Amino acid sequence: MFRNFKAVEKTAYGRGSFDRLGEILAPHRNTGAGYLIFFVDEYFSGNEEFKARIPLAGKDHLEYIPVAEEPTTELIDTLRDTYLNTYGLPAGVVGIGGGSVLDVAKAISLMFTNEGSSTQYQGLNLIKKPGIYACGVPTISGTGAEVSMTAVLTGPEKKLGLKCDWTVLNQIVLDPDLIATVPDNQWFYTGMDNYIHCVESMTGRFKNTFSEAFGYKSLEMSKQVFLELDRKDPKSDEMLMVASYMGGLSLTYSEVGVCHALSYGLSMVLHIHHGLANCIAFKELEDVYGDYVQEFNTMVEKHHIDLPKNLAAGWSDETIEAMVDVAIRLEHMWNHAFGENWREVLDRDRIKNWYKRM
Ligand code: NAD
Ligand code: ZN
Repeated sequence: MFRNFKAVEKTAYGRGSFDRLGEILAPHRNTGAGYLIFFVDEYFSGNEEFKARIPLAGKDHLEYIPVAEEPTTELIDTLRDTYLNTYGLPAGVVGIGGGSVLDVAKAISLMFTNEGSSTQYQGLNLIKKPGIYACGVPTISGTGAEVSMTAVLTGPEKKLGLKCDWTVLNQIVLDPDLIATVPDNQWFYTGMDNYIHCVESMTGRFKNTFSEAFGYKSLEMSKQVFLELDRKDPKSDEMLMVASYMGGLSLTYSEVGVCHALSYGLSMVLHIHHGLANCIAFKELEDVYGDYVQEFNTMVEKHHIDLPKNLAAGWSDETIEAMVDVAIRLEHMWNHAFGENWREVLDRDRIKNWYKRM
């Protein structure tokens, strides 16, 4: 197997590092029309204290991003057209938020230099030119979007990333102080995204020593966070933030599996958010992920997480078929989970049965 991936160029880590963002960005302000756009999770809108810490200068813009829905190709195209037509090409973009906002920053950085709609570029290596400078500041941990080479977008036809070397952020700022305010349920769902990334990355045919090294360490830290430490222990947020980073790297060198394929169906058809959709799917996958599912259930109980049950009772046959359509097309995930002869162990009925158990 041959893999040759690009990494994030610069990583700032540590409590308080968010307040160094101004000096980090200073050398990157002068290209294009000489301004930066800060895309910030709408959770922070109205928080003047937080706003004052964002190093806005000169012609910069601050754009709050709604995250009730996962980012769409339409959102990216509209934002890109508006900024380009009104203010010209920015020098760079900064995403401050969760996986949703980081993906917005990554995708729009590419779409500022690649013509047409972002729907054309959903897939592997379809992007034609490098994007503009992009920096990411996670405020919730688990997706690994801070290090991954994909920017996941929901389009009219599919939920799929713009995936290539140029998608990788130039700079990330990992400040564990920023994730302290995440509500417990969301902390758990997104944290479990990372746990599941590691399990899937380490249990399929594309696993290798590189992905396993990151995956084992990330899983160990994840278990400490969700099974041993109190969330108020300062170590907890620090470990979760670094675990997300390492889980993302594990995934980059391997692949996601069954849970993510099913989860994409739930998100695409029913608009269930990624972390929660993963949790809904993972608990039904004991036939694939065995003891990991039991361990996941222990974490659910420990944190009194109320995962929705009997959802399938409210789903029509058409809804389930639509989710199967989305999932079955994700061939690279099935190939990773079950090997290249995956069609011998997987058909529409097996996928349907997983959905029916949810
Ligand atoms: P998110 O970005 O959608 O945010 C979840 C919720 O947490 C939102 O309500 C948000 O406002 C809130 N939030 C964020 N930071 C907060 C803070 N500090 N305090 C309080 N609330 C805060 O959630 P996510 O799970 O990080 O990201 C999910 C998205 O990431 C999906 O769109 C998914 O497709 C994508 N994703 C991308 C990758 C990748 O490699 N690019 C990997 C996995 C998932
Ligand atoms: Zn994920």
